[in-house]
Amino acid sequence: MITAEEKRLLAEVREDELVRLTQELVRIDSVIRPDLGRTESDVVQFLAGWIRRELGVEPLVEEAAPGRQNVVATLDSGRPGPCLMLEGHTDVVSEGNRDAWSHDPFGGELSDGRIFGRGSCDMKAGVAVALLTAGALRRSGVSWKGKIRLGLVCDEEGMMIGIKSFIKAGHADDVTACLVPEPEENNLCISMKGAIRAVVRVHGKMAHGAMPLSGVNPATRLARIILAFERYETRQKERCGRDPLLGLPSVTFTVIQAPPPGNPAQLNVMPGEALAYVDIRTVLAQDHDTVRSELRALLQELAREDAEFRADIEFIEDRPVVGISRDEPIARVSAEAFRDITGREPTWNGVPGATDGTFLSAWKGIPCLVNGPGPRHIPHQVDEYVEVSELVEAARIYALSAVRYLCGEG
Ligand SMILES: [Zn+2]
Repeated sequence: MITAEEKRLLAEVREDELVRLTQELVRIDSVIRPDLGRTESDVVQFLAGWIRRELGVEPLVEEAAPGRQNVVATLDSGRPGPCLMLEGHTDVVSEGNRDAWSHDPFGGELSDGRIFGRGSCDMKAGVAVALLTAGALRRSGVSWKGKIRLGLVCDEEGMMIGIKSFIKAGHADDVTACLVPEPEENNLCISMKGAIRAVVRVHGKMAHGAMPLSGVNPATRLARIILAFERYETRQKERCGRDPLLGLPSVTFTVIQAPPPGNPAQLNVMPGEALAYVDIRTVLAQDHDTVRSELRALLQELAREDAEFRADIEFIEDRPVVGISRDEPIARVSAEAFRDITGREPTWNGVPGATDGTFLSAWKGIPCLVNGPGPRHIPHQVDEYVEVSELVEAARIYALSAVRYLCGEG
């Protein structure tokens, strides 16, 4: 049941404003282009200006790395209560081949009820939802408690240095729950898959292709590692089974290089080294320390069978699997808000990848719910879009969830 006061709040969530703001954000190219010195900076400046003007607070613009900034702002009700964080990332992935697009990737064109462009759903629409949720709370004059924290960070599509630096700076210390409007078709995602990223290096001995016996071929040894990891993946799938929200675990070789970059490749030269990157995705039934030690053990096993086998594995990133219960206050109010806004039952789901919420949850124990507008499978593709009706629905769900969570009805 939506109360009269809540109706006043929802009246401040205006479609035209939401569409315009999403379009404006899409039109600011925030692809990271190191060769051109381009980062999220322009969109950061835009957001800081919007927050100053529309929320009447001074945002913090903090560098996570040179030229890479986070925007942090707090809307304070002046009354003690919870602190709800609305999170978003400002970077977008490359548009790829522009000729493959049927809409300008940075045009923010509105056509057939959809806004097109790189980042339209991942996640400039989500950033617009976060901003307007705060804006509607401020303008409507409805009463609420506690604080809203906007955390609009850089580099989610990279190593997530933005959210890591946001947490290290203490901005998450007082946060009691977080909503992450990543494109999930407004499904309520209560868990996120974990990830381990690794580099495998195989050390061989360079030789003439006509005299292979005088060398040690790292390529064939790497092939054995790939097959051993594939068998490991099969065993893990059998052991864990299908997680109802996250699906199956996986071990995927994504980059294979022999010789490694910087060494000229030549058809008649056996390379001295082989290099591979492995993208490991985990589910709740797995423990990351165990996975790491089991993969190391596989290399030791291969070394026992081959005196010339020399390989090592370096783990360069750890993103734990996280999840909350449907009874967590932020999940409960969001489900109730979903029902009241749409008249439908919400779909509970899990995020197949990690998000910035992974670190808020793993490092600070903050309950995170990922539920934003935009089709799940469209991010990173050409002709990325967000449906206007879904965008408006998301903003209404967010405004209602926020006010109910902050009023302690959770
Ligand atoms: Zn995203």
